[in-house]
Amino acid sequence: MSEVRVRFCPSPTGNPHVGMVRTALFNWAYARHTGGTFVFRIEDTDTARDSEQSYNDLLDSLRWLGMDWDEGPEVGGPHAPYRQSQRMDIYADVAGKLLASGHAYHCYCSQEELEERREAAREAGKTPGYDGACRTLSAEQKADYETQGRSPVVRFRMPDTDFTWTDLVRGDVTFAAEHVPDYVIVRATGEPLYTLVNPVDDVLMEITHVLRGEDLLSSTPRQLALYDALKEIGVAKGERPLYGHLPYVMGEGNKKLSKRDPESSLLMYREEGYLPEGLLNYLALLGWAFGEDREFFSKEEMATVFDVARVNANPARFDLKKCTSINGDWIRTLAPDELARRITPYLIKDGVLSAEPTAEQMDVLKNAIPLVQERMETLRQGIGMLGFLFADQPGSPAFAVDPVEAEKVLTPDAQPVLVAALAALTAVENWTTPAIEEALRTALIEGLELKPKVAFGPVRVAVTGRRVSPPLFESLEILGKDRSLARITASIK
Ligand code: GLU
Ligand code: ZN
Repeated sequence: MSEVRVRFCPSPTGNPHVGMVRTALFNWAYARHTGGTFVFRIEDTDTARDSEQSYNDLLDSLRWLGMDWDEGPEVGGPHAPYRQSQRMDIYADVAGKLLASGHAYHCYCSQEELEERREAAREAGKTPGYDGACRTLSAEQKADYETQGRSPVVRFRMPDTDFTWTDLVRGDVTFAAEHVPDYVIVRATGEPLYTLVNPVDDVLMEITHVLRGEDLLSSTPRQLALYDALKEIGVAKGERPLYGHLPYVMGEGNKKLSKRDPESSLLMYREEGYLPEGLLNYLALLGWAFGEDREFFSKEEMATVFDVARVNANPARFDLKKCTSINGDWIRTLAPDELARRITPYLIKDGVLSAEPTAEQMDVLKNAIPLVQERMETLRQGIGMLGFLFADQPGSPAFAVDPVEAEKVLTPDAQPVLVAALAALTAVENWTTPAIEEALRTALIEGLELKPKVAFGPVRVAVTGRRVSPPLFESLEILGKDRSLARITASIK
């Protein structure tokens, strides 16, 4: 075991998104690479925004992705509990110690007063920020405020020095003292804020490396200052953690990918049938490279070589097409049985199967999988191509041709083609792919002198319901003679 301890510490608000998953992945990979510890902590101190649903989604998401955590919810660990909502007494205690030691103080300023003074500072050409008005209140002034019925917030007293650290990704970063004013750590209601609970838990949970998104860069000088204060009062024992800020992820139009962008939502990837392997493989490329131009690898392979020092500080571009194509590569690596197993829940969810497949249906599926495996980049694309095999069976929906496809392909011109195909297929005795192919070619290509597209298009749509399907002759074989003939007959009518 190495001493490396990293954490993934999302707030349970809204739906899990890919930015979050990338952060989790880089932390996970670093822990696994170093033989360290991956801590999963839930930052749920904001009762107005947090939800139990979102908490459950987070756990479920990490499990689905296969990112196991060594300490955290449901797993426990030496620093339990790992839900901040269950650690409130710890934060109250630390806030008390910071107040008692003078590292923090009560601030009675109202929002309006703060805003007025910020405005004045702006007009005077100074950096607007908290001006330290309550740093040195006398006992009388405090008593005066209290009698006015004001409840104070707790503010952390920033040292009047610049802050520099060597970021694991960005190198030396400096924030000038004037840009980091004293900041609030506890609300007037007594609720502790992220600014307090996050660094306090990093200290108490002995986190050594903080890897997180670049949007949090400006909170680092505050956290370093708070860390130093905690060290002074004996709460922190070890060294300051090292920080590495992962680059921004840009979406369409070179704007930061936002949680509201549809390609941001983890749920979308699950619903469309991306494999966890494919999604993680793609997200690993957002700011990091395996080396030697290698773009296809598992998270375990990533972990064998992952080093924070090789994370690129430049913004990464999110490319859904590339993500999807990598997912297709992953789908092609699966054994047909495994792919059948993975696609089954989607077939059930979409109503293609009404329940767990019977042994017979599973055989149909396994036979059909090799026909579609090359053509699908997501599991959902497979459903569209496989659905025709299960329609018209007990408990499954009736078979129906996609009306748009019907309009395009099942035209009056197609009528004689289908009639000829029906006659040829009715005569096939040994229902195998080569015999089916032979019969259709003889009747349509030679007999009617049609081009393959014109000949086979109507048959394909009549039998599979769509123009995009697995290869036609194989599909007919798997579907069976009776059902194939019935569908062609129905289309002729
Ligand atoms: N709960 C914070 C967030 O989700 C954690 C930020 C951090 O990693 O420090 O943004
Ligand atoms: Zn104040």
